Amino acid sequence: MNGRLKLKLVYDPRYNSDLSVLGIKVPFALDRGQRVLDELAAKSGATVPYCRPKPLTKRDLLLVHDEKYLESLKHPPNWQSVFGLAKAPESNEETRKAVRKLLSEIRLKSGGTYRAAKAALKSGLAANLGAGYHHAFADRADGYCSINDVAVAIRKLQAEGLCRKVMIVDVDLHQGNGNASIFRGDPDVFTFDIHALEAYPQKKEKSSLDIAISDDERHLYQERLEEGLQKALEAFSPDLVFFIQGSDPYVKDVGVGFRYLRLTLEQLKKRDQFVIDTCVNRGIPVALVFAGGYGPNVWRVHYNAVQHMMDKSVA
Ligand SMILES: [Zn+2]
Repeated sequence: MNGRLKLKLVYDPRYNSDLSVLGIKVPFALDRGQRVLDELAAKSGATVPYCRPKPLTKRDLLLVHDEKYLESLKHPPNWQSVFGLAKAPESNEETRKAVRKLLSEIRLKSGGTYRAAKAALKSGLAANLGAGYHHAFADRADGYCSINDVAVAIRKLQAEGLCRKVMIVDVDLHQGNGNASIFRGDPDVFTFDIHALEAYPQKKEKSSLDIAISDDERHLYQERLEEGLQKALEAFSPDLVFFIQGSDPYVKDVGVGFRYLRLTLEQLKKRDQFVIDTCVNRGIPVALVFAGGYGPNVWRVHYNAVQHMMDKSVA
């Protein structure tokens, strides 16, 4: 990384997947990348440039995922468990086509995470306006996540010799159990995870540093985050931070059963600025990905973080 910070945004209009054919009714905020770009353009009075990613290849996915598991994703009925559907999608021409399209969009969004990380290593700051599939395990899907974009990006960057030591800073409402499992015991990858104790997943994995906030401690959120991240960065010096910026702790998030933390927009702004500023002040490149967030309001949480990165970036 050279000394000057320059923010790179990564996005593609195809991030806005149509999930209706498979019967998926979860209120994902898949238009949030576009909404963030629109708001940035409205505020600055100019179109905001972004670069389009390339989809990850099967070879890339095999750096983390099991081949048999990847094959299983081609069959529509197997998406029942990914999205917790009441009924398994039938296997017919229409659903097989929908699954092929969905998988290609997920590979594209995951390629965006790799692209953002490469850009961050070069110029300090980058954001992929989507992805953040932190519940995906090496050999199974979980919590709406099938391909673990951050894990594959880390393994690909390491294989290419672009970085070695990586920290994941995950502030999504839910614990990033996929990443915790994939990187458990890996001395080169530190997983820092602050999440709601009572929220899904009921069975948490062990991250390098977990901060589980119980409902009666939610007023201590920022304090616990600050203490924890400083402790993590004293213990581990990363070449790169992946910032999994979930917006589902937002009080206006509409995800089913997401009644924990209930942070305000201002509290989330403070959270995200703290993570970004802490890394920038230490000279650590930051690649942000959006992660969890549901309903029509969560894009504002992401907008504030991307705007803050833009303010740090040289014109
Ligand atoms: Zn989440």
